[in-house]
Formats: sequence, structure tokens, C-alpha cells
Amino acid sequence: MSTAGQVIRCKAAVAWESGKPLSIEEVEVAPPQKDEVRIKILFTSLCHTDVYFWDAKGQNPLFPRILGHEAGGIVESVGEGVTDLKPGDHVLPIFTGECKECPHCLSEESNMCDLLRINTDRGEMINDGKSRFSINGKPIYHFLGTSTFSEYTVVHVGQVAKINPEAPLDKVCVLSCGMSTGFGATVNVAKPKKGQSVAIFGLGAVGLAAAEGARVSGASRIIGVDLNPSRFELAKNFGVTEFVNPKDHNKPVQEVIAEMTGGGVDRSVECTGSIQAMISAFECVHDGWGVAVLVGVPNKDDAFKTHPVNLLNERTLKGTFFGNYKPRTDIPAVVERYMNKELELDKFITHSVPFSEINKAFEYMLAGEGLRCVIRMDA
Ligand code: NAD
Ligand code: ZN
Repeated sequence: MSTAGQVIRCKAAVAWESGKPLSIEEVEVAPPQKDEVRIKILFTSLCHTDVYFWDAKGQNPLFPRILGHEAGGIVESVGEGVTDLKPGDHVLPIFTGECKECPHCLSEESNMCDLLRINTDRGEMINDGKSRFSINGKPIYHFLGTSTFSEYTVVHVGQVAKINPEAPLDKVCVLSCGMSTGFGATVNVAKPKKGQSVAIFGLGAVGLAAAEGARVSGASRIIGVDLNPSRFELAKNFGVTEFVNPKDHNKPVQEVIAEMTGGGVDRSVECTGSIQAMISAFECVHDGWGVAVLVGVPNKDDAFKTHPVNLLNERTLKGTFFGNYKPRTDIPAVVERYMNKELELDKFITHSVPFSEINKAFEYMLAGEGLRCVIRMDA
């Protein structure tokens, strides 16, 4: 029996207040409106960005909310005007969109779509400013336009990448945010040349995907920086060749790296969300040619402070969302790189839990344990 055009009642994990465990509730999910798609989520995983907006210490609180943005699923139904997706298509919802019409989408250099670029403070659909989720008529806010901690969700068509139906969704779901972000930050933005040295700040899943990008680019040295020593053992499987724990030194980590590398690394990629690490990641690149790329999501009141001479000395500072990938145009090909065994994903997935135990995924991340925890919606 088709559910198209009808309200679907299903389970979702609702964040009622900041920092409190999610609670599994029965929610109503309205049908997709114009330019929207309703997706049955099969697998979702937890990214640190979800945790920031859940604990809401350094971000604007918006509750009750359905979090989640790294996921894979199948289109259940489509709204008016949607022509390039149909029920049954395998898709990855993406937190930043691609309208294919604005100056950014038409530019080869940008993925910052005017209509659908990441907006962490918006809790409703852009079409009518309303939520598609409710409990007994009371609306529940969306998160990043994706809200994947629900058996069904509604997403703007511009935030949906249609992928190879043969790709295993329990693996490629991590390409919907973290792995594409880290990998793209290196290969599309930092662009190390063969034989160059790369420092990676933060050895979580995003940072190790950035290391993977450095490895496939032929980097000669990949220096991993993290405060959590348990990350170093894990990182050995990701081509990281040297490790630095800022806590082991009594001088700034940028000075330690400059000494290790005869003046600085050629490239650095910051994947921590710590403002201090962002500054160190910039100041540790070599003068004359060094390029630093910021990926971590900062607190809302953070400010980046460095002496302007660090820039005059011909260092470049960049930043990226989603590794500069255009979600609809580029992600199907990234999935193919996994299918062709050019890109490894399985080693990023260290934990898996049924949906009913989603709070465990938060516990693992808060404890700095493992990389990605995949949440199985059917279980
Ligand atoms: P994670 O928690 O798994 O990994 C972060 C790592 O950084 C941890 O190992 C932690 O110990 C380390 N760390 C924290 N502070 C540090 C410091 N001062 N110096 C060195 N290491 C430090 O998180 P993740 O899911 O891999 O995400 C990493 C970051 O990327 C987060 O800030 C997340 O919000 C951000 N992110 C950005 C985008 C984007 O498009 N720009 C997309 C996804 C995630
Ligand atoms: Zn993410």
C-alpha cells in the first residue's frame, strides 16, 4: 500500500533539551511539499556536529529537534516539481545543498549554494517556514535540513544525492558528511603535491578521512595531531606516519611541527572544532607556500587571532564545508570511488547500534572512543 501523500507515523529520536539523552518517540511526518522528497532512512551515523547542537554549549539552542545528517536511505515519495528522483531511488541526504541555478552552483569553484547552503539555526523547511515533523500537532524542529534520526524524513531535493543502488548503504552513509568532508578538504582544497608533508589536526573520522586524502595524493609525511593518545593507534591504519600530542610539549604545537619539518609543513588540515587548534594549524605551515584548511565547526563566539605577518609571509588560510564537493553533482562519483576500491570506508566504521540504542553513539563520541558509529534504523 502506497504511503505517498499521507502522513506517516514512525519512530524518531527527539532531542527535547540540550545535553539530555534523546528519546524515541512516535512522530508524524507530513508528505513532501514542492521540491521536497520524503526518505526512508535505513542507516545513519553520528558526526561531531550533531553533538555540538545537542549539547548547545557553544551553539544556539533550538529544541525540540530531530538531529542527524550523516545517513543513507531510499526515496519513499516526492513532492510537486521533483523530476530527477523517484520512489525507490537510493540516496544520501546532505547537510548543504545544490540548487544548480545560483551563481555558486554555476561556479566551478564553490559549493556554497545561495538557496541551500548549510544553515545550523534554521529549524523549518524553506518552502513554507514550517516543520514536517510533529507530535500530537506540536511541531518538532528540523536540523540542517536533513534530520536523519528518524525512520522517515523530508529533505529539499537540492540536498539529496542519488547514488548507485548497488552501493551498501550501511557503509556509504558515512560519505554523506564526514568522510567526503575530510577527504575533499585535502584533495579539493589543500591539494598537496606528491612528496609534500601534511599535518592533520584532530584524528576523528573527519581528520582520518583527510589523512586518507593525503595518502592518495602521495604525501611523504602525514603528521597527526591529537590530544587523545588512543587516536594514535587507530590512525596507523590511515597512513598517518608521525604523531604529536600537544600535551606532551611545553611549547606551542606549531613550533614543535616547525622543528620537525625544517620550518613547517607544506599543508595542514584542521578537523577539531577547537579555535586553538585552528590557529596552530595555520601557524604550522611553511612560509612561502604553506596552505592551511579549516574544517572544524567553531563555537559561535570564537575569533581567529594571528599576527598578519604570518599571512604576509605567504601562507594561505582557507576553509571548507563538505570538502568543497557539490552534493548532487560530485557525490555519486565519490561513491563510485568506494565501489572501485580506491577509497576505503569500512575502517571508519568502528561501532554499530540499533536505533533503540542511539544514545550509545553519543556516549562513544563523548568518550573519544572509535570513529563512526552506524545506527541501524530497522533494528
Ligand atoms: P571527532 O570528535 O570524532 O574528532 C575530533 C578530534 O579532534 C578528536 O580526536 C579530539 O581529541 C581532537 N581534538 C579536539 N581538540 C583538539 C586540539 N585542540 N588539538 C588536537 N586535537 C584536538 O569529530 P569528527 O566527527 O571527526 O568531526 C571533526 C570536526 O569537523 C568537528 O568540529 C565537526 O563539527 C567538523 N565537521 C565539519 C564539517 C564541514 O563541512 N566543515 C563537516 C563535518 C564535520
Ligand atoms: Zn557532519
